[in-house]
Amino acid sequence: MSDDLLAVFLILGVGVIGLLIGSFLNVVVWRVPRGESVVHPPSACPRCGHSIRSRDNLPVLSWLLLRGRCRDCAAPISPRYPLVELGTGVLFALTAWFAGPTWILPALLYLAAISVALALIDIDTKRLPNAIVLPAYPVSLALLTLAAWNPGGTPDWSALLRVVIGGAALYAVYFVAVVVYPAGMGFGDVKLAGVLGMYLGWYGWGALFVGWFAAFLLGGLFSVALLLLGRAGRKSGIPFGPWMLLGAAVGIVAGQPLWDWYLGAL
Ligand SMILES: [Zn+2]
Repeated sequence: MSDDLLAVFLILGVGVIGLLIGSFLNVVVWRVPRGESVVHPPSACPRCGHSIRSRDNLPVLSWLLLRGRCRDCAAPISPRYPLVELGTGVLFALTAWFAGPTWILPALLYLAAISVALALIDIDTKRLPNAIVLPAYPVSLALLTLAAWNPGGTPDWSALLRVVIGGAALYAVYFVAVVVYPAGMGFGDVKLAGVLGMYLGWYGWGALFVGWFAAFLLGGLFSVALLLLGRAGRKSGIPFGPWMLLGAAVGIVAGQPLWDWYLGAL
């Protein structure tokens, strides 16, 4: 099989896995902030209480086939559910396209999955639950260690050192920011910063800096836009987590090349 064909299969396969993960993330986003188990009981219609049949649990397709209504009581099902599934599928496919068949791919897919969950929960509840952020430290470290080990290829232990330093550095920067200006962010953001710093560190010091800066730039521009449109007062307090996650994505995809270009331009 040619490399091109293999890449297409990888992207499609990972995209389909993303649809299924997206379906699970809908459960996570609803239940984790409520302190409920994500595995038990099985999903049920919030109006009539009938549990969702497995044939009605296909990502995106079931919602379309049921025309967005419960099979039993015809209660409307929010289009947000299929959109989260589709969005996660697309994000997974893009991640597979970006990383290719490498050992960094599992780590990036894990980051993509928790990013979707954390962004939605932060928008819904303005919290970044410990139940997701804290396990992300050991899981990310394990997956990034696997990537640095690079079985079948040359290990890159200096990348793993950057992971550890990057995580500690971004945690420290946010920690100081929250202590100095507590109104701006919370400790949920500090804990998330440590996780994102690990991934950004993997891609280099430039990626770490760009990822950090892009979060403030994008979040700041959004706040200014809201103010100009009269949609928000100065105190309405937008959640910062989604901007940290978006900034990290920018840092991972384009941070190191942007940084090198910037240094070259100086
Ligand atoms: Zn129902």
